[in-house]
Amino acid sequence: MELENEMISSSSSSSAGSREYKVVMLGAGGVGKSAMTMQFISHRFPDYHDPTIELEVGYLSMLDTSLAEFTAMRDQYMRGGEGFIICYSITDRQSFQEAAEFKELIYRVRHTYDIPLVLVGNKIDLEEFRQVSTEEGMSLAREYSCSFFETSAALRFYIDDVFHGLVREIRRKEFSLVE
Ligand code: GDP
Repeated sequence: MELENEMISSSSSSSAGSREYKVVMLGAGGVGKSAMTMQFISHRFPDYHDPTIELEVGYLSMLDTSLAEFTAMRDQYMRGGEGFIICYSITDRQSFQEAAEFKELIYRVRHTYDIPLVLVGNKIDLEEFRQVSTEEGMSLAREYSCSFFETSAALRFYIDDVFHGLVREIRRKEFSLVE
C-alpha cells in the first residue's frame, strides 16, 4: 500500500491542475487488490490516455483494505472514499460471500447506498478453479445497482475498464449533484 500511494503521489506532480479521485478497494485478502492496482498504475498511469476522462483524472488514491483490518482505520478510509471497488476472486467462494457484505459496511459508514461502486470478480485466468459463476457476480451487481467486471490482474484483462468505469460513476454522481 505504501508503495502504491508513493507511486501515485509522484505521478501527480506531473499533472498539475488535474483531479484526484479517491478510490477505496475492498475485498478479502488475496483476491488481487494490490495486483489490480499495480497493473493499472504501472502500465497505464504515467501516460494515461482516455479521451473521455483524461483531463479530469489526476491520480487515484488507492486504499486497500479487507474486512479483517483494523476497524477505525478502515472506517476512516471509507469516509474519505469517493468511489469503491469491491473485489472477490472467482476461485474463492468465501471471498464472494465477503463481497456481499461490503455494501452494508459502506452504508454503516456513509449512511447512503448512493455511492459510486464497481464489483469485480478477479482471476479469470484461473478458469479451471472457478468457484463463483459469472451469473452469480452479475446477480450481486444487480443487487448493488453497480457495474460488474470479471478481470485478470495477472493478464491485465479488463483492469482499465474497472478504474475507468468507476471514475465515470464518480463523475456522473458529481454532475447529478450540480444539476
Ligand atoms: P490482495 O491481498 O487482495 O491485495 O491480493 P494480491 O494482489 O496480493 O494477490 C494475492 C495473490 O494472488 C498473489 O499471489 C497474486 O500474484 C495473485 N493474483 C492476483 N491477481 C491474480 C490474477 O488475476 N490471476 C492469478 N492467477 N493470480 C492473481
